[in-house]
Amino acid sequence: MRIVLVGPPGAGKGTQAAYLAQNLSIPHIATGDLFRANISQGTDLGKQARAYMDAGQLVPDEVTIGMAKDRMAQSDAVGGFLLDGFPRNVGQAEALDVMLKDEGVKLDAVLDLEVPEDEVVKRIAGRRVCRNNSAHVFHLTYNPPKTEGVCDACGGELYQRDDDSEETVRTRLEVYHTQAEPIIDYYRAQGLVVTISALGKVADVTARAMEALKTSDEG
Ligand SMILES: [Zn+2]
Repeated sequence: MRIVLVGPPGAGKGTQAAYLAQNLSIPHIATGDLFRANISQGTDLGKQARAYMDAGQLVPDEVTIGMAKDRMAQSDAVGGFLLDGFPRNVGQAEALDVMLKDEGVKLDAVLDLEVPEDEVVKRIAGRRVCRNNSAHVFHLTYNPPKTEGVCDACGGELYQRDDDSEETVRTRLEVYHTQAEPIIDYYRAQGLVVTISALGKVADVTARAMEALKTSDEG
């Protein structure tokens, strides 16, 4: 299957992408990983991306599209893939359509993970991180420490990162919707969008997604 995964921050997109890719035996192609790989391997595209990033500029679409194209041409992606973070705008979506058409294939589905905004805020704004070790992560509701404000693992002080504040989360969601809505509309016009609720346990969301993809495939 050829799938594009979309969803707001806090929807557990990265986790779902990993499980879905495993269940469907297709590679999980995440834009962040593409950038890291191209830059660390010193490819031409990686060098170009680096130059823009070092200059504090946005990496142009053609660079990102080039990286995605190279990755999708690798042998493990010939039978399908799950894209995460690409396309990021309608121009990239159109370029992806052209790429796939050239190969005589097409997307099977655009899986849209949906979470109510207040739930996203609760998930992210409830996070508390240990000052001694950023891997010691708690959640006021879902994984509270035994003693308020104290890390269970090492006794360090727990704090809320600036990125996790309610105000920042609401701004990030607004940015996400502004970027994602035109892409979702673009794919909706092609009848490709499959929306599922991302609420609940990770395994339940994966099962829901698999079922929805199966149904969309039959339809
Ligand atoms: Zn700790």
